Amino acid sequence: MTRHKYCAANWKMNLTPTQGVNFVQDLQSNALMKENTTVIIAPSYVGLTALRNNLTKENIELSSQNFYFEDKGAFTGEISADMLLDCGCKWVILGHSERRHVFGESNSDIRKKFDKALQKGLKPILCIGEKLHERESNLTREILVQQLESALKGLTDCTSDHFIVAYEPVWAIGTGVSATNEMVEEAHEMIRGILSSLGYDGNRISILYGGSVKPSNSGELMSISGVDGFLIGGASLDVSSFYKIYESF
Ligand code: PEP
Repeated sequence: MTRHKYCAANWKMNLTPTQGVNFVQDLQSNALMKENTTVIIAPSYVGLTALRNNLTKENIELSSQNFYFEDKGAFTGEISADMLLDCGCKWVILGHSERRHVFGESNSDIRKKFDKALQKGLKPILCIGEKLHERESNLTREILVQQLESALKGLTDCTSDHFIVAYEPVWAIGTGVSATNEMVEEAHEMIRGILSSLGYDGNRISILYGGSVKPSNSGELMSISGVDGFLIGGASLDVSSFYKIYESF
């Protein structure tokens, strides 16, 4: 089955709005002609509007890196789904390992955000992945089951078209050490099986890999069965390396 592919940039707390605009202008000066492939850019909140105003290609879409699950109110420093939609966001990254492990987001926080994103029409990029000691203790499957079940179990209005998944082993994020091809293939297969056991069509849902993707390994990673693109941190900050990764699709 042909699944849609995504080349997604997570800029984290990098690039000012001005730098972000320069990036998309440079990126758009290249041909972005890969079939069945969408570029997603997740800048900081303050860069969203400027980027939206400078997007000229339909196959580039905007994502937020996070949001808060309440609609509005006394939540100093937080941002709502409606605010993101108003800035042109179509996507939201949920459960990124830095949200989970630096900011202490729990599976139940992520579920609340997942519910609210769906209700508002923002598409989640649901990030899941095990820590190194969990992999070493053979707990990878258990962790993936917990993370997927807690976000997705029992949702009545959620279909396989409403979200995508990013498999990001925590130990591979920002370390320069990507997972091996075998690990990636096995995890993606495992995730498809878990999605199916939760009532979704695992074969239909795009699953991205994330963790130290760079131009030198993207071609090989992209050729792994079940990999439908990447969520890219460090290598997405430089337009030429990001474009090289896109070109490897
Ligand atoms: C990420 O932040 O989701 C990520 C995968 O980072 P990096 O590409 O730098 O490992």
